[in-house]
Amino acid sequence: MDGAGVAGKAAVQDTVAAAFAAQRAGAEARRASFDLAARRAALARLRDAVIAFQPRIIQALAQDFAKPKAEVILTEILPLLQEIRHARRNLRRWMRPRRVAPTLATFGTRALIRPEPRGTCLIIAPWNYPFQLALGPLVSALAAGNSAIVKPSELTPATSALIAELVRDCFPPDLVHVVEGGKDVAEAALALPFDHIFFTGSAEVGRLVMAAAARHLASVTLELGGKSPVVIGPGADLARAARWVAWGKFANAGQTCIAPDHVLVHDSIRPAFVAALRAEIARAYGADPLASPDLAAIVTDRHAARLRDLLAGALAGGARLLTGGDPAAAQGRRLAPTLIEAVTPEMAIEQQEIFGPILPIIGFSDPGAVIARINAGPKPLALYIFDRDRGFARRIITETSSGAVGVNLTMLHYSHAGLPFGGIGMSGQGPAHGHWGFRAFSHEKPVLENRFSALPWLFPPYRGHRAALIAAARRLLG
Ligand code: NAD
Repeated sequence: MDGAGVAGKAAVQDTVAAAFAAQRAGAEARRASFDLAARRAALARLRDAVIAFQPRIIQALAQDFAKPKAEVILTEILPLLQEIRHARRNLRRWMRPRRVAPTLATFGTRALIRPEPRGTCLIIAPWNYPFQLALGPLVSALAAGNSAIVKPSELTPATSALIAELVRDCFPPDLVHVVEGGKDVAEAALALPFDHIFFTGSAEVGRLVMAAAARHLASVTLELGGKSPVVIGPGADLARAARWVAWGKFANAGQTCIAPDHVLVHDSIRPAFVAALRAEIARAYGADPLASPDLAAIVTDRHAARLRDLLAGALAGGARLLTGGDPAAAQGRRLAPTLIEAVTPEMAIEQQEIFGPILPIIGFSDPGAVIARINAGPKPLALYIFDRDRGFARRIITETSSGAVGVNLTMLHYSHAGLPFGGIGMSGQGPAHGHWGFRAFSHEKPVLENRFSALPWLFPPYRGHRAALIAAARRLLG
């Protein structure tokens, strides 16, 4: 690295360290005053700003990757407003210390679990839902009484700048501060002793985040991705399955952590399902999807090139194109909804999270083979099952492991404020959203208060009646 690079890096570190120090001091000062009313007011300020900024949020996302206005409202603004509303409505209950009944050994005490803020938190966000994945975790962090530094993705610069402005309008920097930039800024932040790190992004960077957290023994929430399969059983309602799969896969141009990655469809209905899916693509995006205003673009040329390479590699290896992108003709950051079949395990498209509008369709005849296939790979973030027969779905749910399951739908589980959202194993750890998000950003502190505990009867010297009492207590427990 040259001198200017070193100086630049030092400046980045100084900026992030100063923001962190201010937040640490602010957290001390706020310890008693950041109560229910203050947290609800902070969340209301965020809500009002999101509503006031709505036209500019739509504009920023159009600029960053041509995200359609309806999708911005549906998948960036609504989930965030819902998260805020749910937190404001339930915060009193979430914050209330919980009574726990005494056990035999603690008879005569009063037990409480008091959620307390973890402290100063770091939120690192990805580019694919750049607005709500930066501010959604902030809702949980504030609800739980923390201060936070938020680092949006550098790959969606218009949205990142807007988030910084919105946060400046709402909060003092010693409560919430946005640091903009890429890997350097994230690394500078990760070098600081945050109390909790909430990371949303790839498994590859997730590993680095966890290693960095280990240096300070910070707790982590990792919201990662992976290959989420769709299983379409012989009893599926094909029109319904096609609608949900097309929406789940092609909304945001497939750049969704819980988008269907590939479809496993029963051989008896495979041709009919492919026909239904093609009809659905034509209905949703017209005869020329590349000209559709309802289809988002790919985030950068580099990401578009990766997707074209994945597709070209699969086709060169013997996969068949059923509809959509011809890699030779396609250009720029737009990619049409694309269906392929005859993929094989050695193809890159079978090994990487696709994260774009390319959908491999894979046949099966034996549900046992589908279960074995899912269990052979990393645990997916989401698993979708379509069938009218609930027994079919139940068997797959019981015999596989995944972050979440959707039956006869895709993606909607994300929007249920009462459900935990998160992965398992390679798809992440630690649930988010609603009460689970509040708990991720809280330390649940037990407080045990003595009222008339008889335990001193057993304190030393252990002779006479004390030894007899200890032996009696031991017998009582079997
Ligand atoms: P990414 O891991 O490349 O980047 C995420 C964030 O990490 C960005 O802010 C980036 O600047 C930062 N970063 C990059 N390199 C870093 C480093 N060396 N050290 C520290 N920070 C670094 O992910 P992405 O490409 O922005 O997002 C796509 C991935 O995120 C996909 O795998 C997707 O499945 C996953 N994702 C998961 C969820 C979820 O909720 N589980 C949601 C959205 C996306």
